[in-house]
Amino acid sequence: MDFQPSEEQLVLLRSVRDFADREMRPLAATWDHEARVPDQKVIDQLVEMGLVGMCLPEQYGGGGQELVSALLCIEQLARISPLCASSVFESNVGPVRVIERFGNKEQKRRYLPAVCRGELEISIGMTEPEAGSALTDLRTRASKVDGGWRIDGRKIFCTGGGHSEAYMVYCRMNDELGAKSIGAVIVEKGTPGFSFGKQEEFMGLRGFPSADLVFDGCVVPDDNLIVPAGGFRSLMQCFDIERCGNATMALGISLGALETATAYALERETFGKPIAERQAIQMMLADMAIRVDAARLLIHRAAIGAESGFPSVKETSMAKVFANETAKAVTDMAMEILGAYGYTKEYPVERMLRDSRGWPLAGGTLQIQKIIIASAVLGRRFDQRK
Ligand SMILES: Cc1cc2nc3c(=O)[nH]c(=O)nc-3n(C[C@H](O)[C@H](O)[C@H](O)COP(=O)(O)OP(=O)(O)OC[C@H]3O[C@@H](n4cnc5c(N)ncnc54)[C@H](O)[C@@H]3O)c2cc1C
Repeated sequence: MDFQPSEEQLVLLRSVRDFADREMRPLAATWDHEARVPDQKVIDQLVEMGLVGMCLPEQYGGGGQELVSALLCIEQLARISPLCASSVFESNVGPVRVIERFGNKEQKRRYLPAVCRGELEISIGMTEPEAGSALTDLRTRASKVDGGWRIDGRKIFCTGGGHSEAYMVYCRMNDELGAKSIGAVIVEKGTPGFSFGKQEEFMGLRGFPSADLVFDGCVVPDDNLIVPAGGFRSLMQCFDIERCGNATMALGISLGALETATAYALERETFGKPIAERQAIQMMLADMAIRVDAARLLIHRAAIGAESGFPSVKETSMAKVFANETAKAVTDMAMEILGAYGYTKEYPVERMLRDSRGWPLAGGTLQIQKIIIASAVLGRRFDQRK
């Protein structure tokens, strides 16, 4: 296993880092304050740099690159704000990967090039009021009708809800309970019978739209069926790619907090000396740096496995838990290092701390990831319903 970025990846990483510092750093606080999605101009710049859809196949307009390359870019962008990385995230690790892996030629032709051009974002609708961690309790129903599927039900907490043009919706496709009858259909904005509920207001990740998806007799054509009933396992394997992205968003926040705290510690003087010379501060910076590096190594170990199919679920869950917990711990330490200034909006640390709290919930909670890890360690599956 080689965890060293190649020369090509280092060049890419540096150019993304420079771009993020130059173009996005000045805007990140405003996007948070106004809870605003980045302008299309910013997305166009990311498209121009070849980052949007960089892991999708070249024949559909993608970059054909490996997952780790996209994660290196997501980390550098999320270092400024996860919002900066959102279109790179969605187009490389989001539900578009379900179409890339399981869609037919026509479906790929319909969606992938538009995603790569930055014209189409696809969101994922899994969670329901009674089905969060217990996802296989989901009730949104896709019933077979002549020439298509009729969808009825409600999804909640959908990131991109109201903003994205298309939605990968997990549905129950027959009367059987549990995972066996779950599949996924794609529903486009504007389809009759599909509307949006209230926009959520989260403590962090402001600027990421999040809304309920409401389906009331919404009929989509047969062509919109991406994964038929029985494909729940495939959907979850594909979702492990997204979990690597989730962990990388948390890693990027951690790196941003470490860099902010380091610069501050070198500059801020108390009792006639920079606080960087105090051992108490040095210990915190060392702990932060260890955790950031360890999180990156765990993520890249999981992501490298993705090239040969899908990342291992155990390795992905370990990376997600560690990176999510790292972001909480590192932003907390950064706030201590900045003293009262860390608690103000003058510095980005309070935003980073708020943003760090979202990633452990999105993509499956820490407790659920730990159940997955424990199952792998113990070599047993623990049925949560028994
Ligand atoms: C920022 C953000 C973005 C999101 N984006 C999306 C999205 O795009 N699409 C989407 O479909 N969903 C999305 N979600 C929803 C997310 O996937 C769910 O919130 C998550 O899976 C947890 O479900 P829940 O909130 O219903 O918690 P619950 O399942 O009700 O869990 C509550 C608590 O109980 C614990 N718990 C539950 N079951 C067990 C168990 N068996 N053993 C031990 N502990 C347990 C949980 O870990 C948690 O601590 C997002 C959420 C957030 C916060």
